[in-house]
Amino acid sequence: VIEIKHLNKSFGSHEVLRDVNFSVNKGEVVCLIGSSGSGKSTLLRCINLLETPSGGEIIYKGENILDDQHDIKKYRTHLGMVFQQFNLFNNHNVLKNCTVGQQKVLKRSKEEAAANALKYLKTVGMDQYVNAKPRQLSGGQKQRVAIARALAMDPEVMLFDEPTSALDPEMVGEVLKVMRNLADGGHTMLIVTHEMEFAREVSDRVVFMDKGVIVEEGSPEQVLVNPKHERTKEFLKRTI
Ligand code: ATP
Ligand code: MG
Repeated sequence: VIEIKHLNKSFGSHEVLRDVNFSVNKGEVVCLIGSSGSGKSTLLRCINLLETPSGGEIIYKGENILDDQHDIKKYRTHLGMVFQQFNLFNNHNVLKNCTVGQQKVLKRSKEEAAANALKYLKTVGMDQYVNAKPRQLSGGQKQRVAIARALAMDPEVMLFDEPTSALDPEMVGEVLKVMRNLADGGHTMLIVTHEMEFAREVSDRVVFMDKGVIVEEGSPEQVLVNPKHERTKEFLKRTI
């Protein structure tokens, strides 16, 4: 669905991404791993154009979306993003959090948006909380709502940036379980994570990044069990 070609990103003179090439295919679950500061979040933010790449191409359905004439707003609606810090609207209840985007961006009616929101709130096990405000929810519950909100936009690809790293340990499992179900359900997902066991179990492909470069990619066995590169081996040693 998405192909990244020769992607570069610099902040001033600091090159954060260097000649990044990779793709996410339909129905595939790709986990992106690497140490802190290696550029994982920047790559995700470049993919949904929260950051403007300094060079390269992002091909979506055969078109380079970095071309001037491309409709960035429309492209963005095909991507669902889940952040470490949930980013829910704190003044809205759970249901409204999951309907505003559908109504504003996709121009769905209130009823249609609510029905779709409810469907995905069920998927994440949060349909009992439609009237709750984010502050009344635990971290794990908030993150499940954030996932439902992204799903309710019916995106082509779901992007996750360390969705469990801001959670208390006892809540990590419930969020990973939801993500595991999505993966089993055939959703296309690109996930930045430090959860190596999860990555090993759910990914079709693992991509290891270091200092802005993709060092190694392959099946979970290839990258996590039998890594070829010294940098991957070192990283895995440190994380176990
Ligand atoms: P972590 O695992 O800690 O989340 P990461 O792999 O996601 O790390 P990034 O957040 O992508 O890493 O950051 C990569 C590098 O880019 C870091 O050196 C960071 O300081 C730098 N960087 C990120 N965003 C900006 C910005 N807006 N301005 C300047 N430098 C930035
Ligand atoms: Mg990050």
